[in-house]
Amino acid sequence: KRGFTAAVPFPLAQYGGRFTVTMIPGDGIGPELMGYVRNIFRYAGVPVDFEEIQITKDSTEDVFEKALVCIKRNGVALKGSIESKYGDVNFSSRNATLRTQLDLYANVLHCRSHPAVPCRYPDLDLVLIRENTEGEYSMMEHESVRGVVESLKVITRRCSDRIARYAFEYAKRHGRSKVTAIHKANIMKISDGLFLETCRNVAKEYPEIEFGDMIVDNTCMQLVSRPHQFDVMVMPNLYGTVVSNVACGLAGGPGLLSGQNYGEHFAVFEPGTRNTGTSVAGLNVANPVAMLNAACDMLNHLGLTQHATLISDAINKTINEDLVHTADIGGENTSLDVVQNIIKEVQQAMKDGEW
Ligand code: ATP
Repeated sequence: KRGFTAAVPFPLAQYGGRFTVTMIPGDGIGPELMGYVRNIFRYAGVPVDFEEIQITKDSTEDVFEKALVCIKRNGVALKGSIESKYGDVNFSSRNATLRTQLDLYANVLHCRSHPAVPCRYPDLDLVLIRENTEGEYSMMEHESVRGVVESLKVITRRCSDRIARYAFEYAKRHGRSKVTAIHKANIMKISDGLFLETCRNVAKEYPEIEFGDMIVDNTCMQLVSRPHQFDVMVMPNLYGTVVSNVACGLAGGPGLLSGQNYGEHFAVFEPGTRNTGTSVAGLNVANPVAMLNAACDMLNHLGLTQHATLISDAINKTINEDLVHTADIGGENTSLDVVQNIIKEVQQAMKDGEW
């Protein structure tokens, strides 16, 4: 299909059967979560070497450029969130800039509930596909006269077309039956109107997949009251961050779900809600699962599906059978308790020859 690529066509960095992946720990809980990933990968014998480049809110442009080059070289990155400097008008969000510089146009968040995690609705299984490079995140704002600020929201047919196509192709590949476009075209008639019209046009090419649309405010209400009506959802950038957080909240909070960012050439994996978790950093209380799930998505992307399954099965057993839960999902265990239990499950599965 025109304008759609499902996978990274560039060669991935691989030497002697081992992959090299860029690791950006970021601020807050990022560094400790990356330590857990490294530890579990070692026990699971994962053939991945990390090239670590730390970007924090205080890093220089040079370091940021170095990180971009590193991701371009390796093709794949695992990333924590970099704190944004509120109020500093000369400083653009490093997270958003990284996504636009690498043209990671599609953010995919698979929202599933866990049987053993308290959750308003069991059996949640939604996929949110968010345009990741434009909209309100164009970061073009100015004060035209004192006290009057203009902020440009940019919606283009090209980016709307490729994200709509990504959503329909995703639905087709994963046997999903419905795509819902989320918008505010009743108020933003031209910008969101273009997004909606483009989605409608792409939908005509996929008659086997049901298409619907919904206004974003109603979407938030429907998500918390009747989430099972949704299957795949596609939306512009800002609505994406809001609706993703509602979905993560429904499924148990910021500590569980992963987020995947794809472009034509590169892929970056990170926790779904993109929080820094600064207030819980260094306390051994952060839930490591979202970052570990991001690491499993990364392994699947690299084609290391056996290792991905080995670790994700261990994560699921830890949560749903062994009931080792951190405080954010109602438990009393520490981050290290969760990690040690996952390692125990990995070792058990390897001993049993389950993989
Ligand atoms: P920032 O702009 O720094 O990312 P934010 O408001 O987006 O801030 P945070 O404050 O980092 O988000 O996170 C929101 C809430 O979720 C906080 O209460 C934080 O402690 C919690 N949180 C985030 N990640 C985790 C995690 N992995 N485990 C437990 N709690 C978490």
